[in-house]
Amino acid sequence: MDKQQEFVLRTLEERDIRFVRLWFTDVLGFLKSVAVAPAELEQAFDEGIGFDGSAIEGFARVYESDMIAKPDPGTFQILPWRAEAPGTARMFCDILMPDGSPSFADPRYVLKRILAKTSDLGFTFYTHPEIEFFLLKDKPVDGSRPVPADSSGYFDHTPQNVGMDFRRQAITMLESMGISVEFSHHEGAPGQQEIDLRYADALSTADNIMTFRLVMKQVALEQGVHATFMPKPFSEYPGSGMHTHLSLFEGDRNAFYESGAEYQLSKVGRSFIAGLLRHAAEISAVTNQWVNSYKRIWGGSARSAGAGGEAPSYICWGHNNRSALIRVPMYKPGKTGSARVEVRSIDSGANPYLTYAVLLAAGLKGIEESYELPAGADDDVWALSDAERRAMGIEPLPQNLGEAISLMERSELVAETLGEHVFDFFLRNKKQEWEEYRSEVTAFELKKNLPVL
Ligand code: GLN
Ligand code: MG
Ligand code: MG
Ligand code: MG
Repeated sequence: MDKQQEFVLRTLEERDIRFVRLWFTDVLGFLKSVAVAPAELEQAFDEGIGFDGSAIEGFARVYESDMIAKPDPGTFQILPWRAEAPGTARMFCDILMPDGSPSFADPRYVLKRILAKTSDLGFTFYTHPEIEFFLLKDKPVDGSRPVPADSSGYFDHTPQNVGMDFRRQAITMLESMGISVEFSHHEGAPGQQEIDLRYADALSTADNIMTFRLVMKQVALEQGVHATFMPKPFSEYPGSGMHTHLSLFEGDRNAFYESGAEYQLSKVGRSFIAGLLRHAAEISAVTNQWVNSYKRIWGGSARSAGAGGEAPSYICWGHNNRSALIRVPMYKPGKTGSARVEVRSIDSGANPYLTYAVLLAAGLKGIEESYELPAGADDDVWALSDAERRAMGIEPLPQNLGEAISLMERSELVAETLGEHVFDFFLRNKKQEWEEYRSEVTAFELKKNLPVL
């Protein structure tokens, strides 16, 4: 038994932990959990715990349903909302096949595969997510219009504001689980919050995002509100993005940084961005995986202040240009050696493991093939005409999930990165969602057409 495993077993005893939850994530990005008694853990570390994978979205076909969850002791944390003894703890798991080989259906393994390739190339991949979400008065279950839990706006700070108390309790809880928070504030729409996690390696970040979503829902429950990560719950307000800042390090040197270069961006940094841009459309079905995701991306014409709320619609990059898909944040003179790129398309409903995997694959492709970075866009790209954008070589992101799926279907990069199993399941599942949506007569049609036709 290694040191981390020993630490877990000792802590269970010292802290009187009676339940250990083994966590993993399905292909669509939903958290799954199976609880084991502490006495089972030694065996779980050795061999894993068997479960029926056929019941998990995207995991297995019925005839090969036996799967194994093997806890990663490095992710052990006590759950703060079950603090009273006997307590509850959790660990993230890797999913294995009965023969002990990694399961190709496990999103964590998809990310681990591309991270291994990244480290073979001499890089470490860091991510810093800005997570936006809404607090609602209660959980609408019947398709009725949601009601925001507060009526504040961007950076508002008013006493007695639900969001403020909420953020304080939520952040305290995250930090007690070892997840550091860098910034938090009220976002642009009523009820909308943003919490930004400190940068970490991409696997830890993806695990942290899964924990984050559960913690937000848990704190919301305690405060009598409901937290949602739906990309665009309101037509008239901005949606919830999960902008993520990315960087590659070579040892302790930031590989995107070059002193004196334009925007302090090295050749590696420029090719990485070029890769993100060239493959942006074909990876959209992963970074923006729901029918509703495209309502955020195409959410209104009065963009910056209005319903679109700065979600990117066009494939371009810019220096501090908030209408661009990729933004290279302002260089901070005091912070020598730092450079990063912010990807703004990702929404809060994405599976973080698969999303970081395809973004990383796109960026690495740019480096490996030395893609040239096209000129940056200094203009507000929403204000340009289609013809002007075309003249600048700026293409739109997919219009809807249907278009995103057909682009993904033809993508070698996505097929290779997700692996055959996840790629096939994902396409099948998303086609079904799109077909269901396409055949639905919506409130829009009833409102517009029924009175006049
Ligand atoms: N809510 C916006 C989005 O959907 C982002 C707003 C912001 O952080 N500037 O991406
Ligand atoms: Mg932000
Ligand atoms: Mg924001
Ligand atoms: Mg941002």
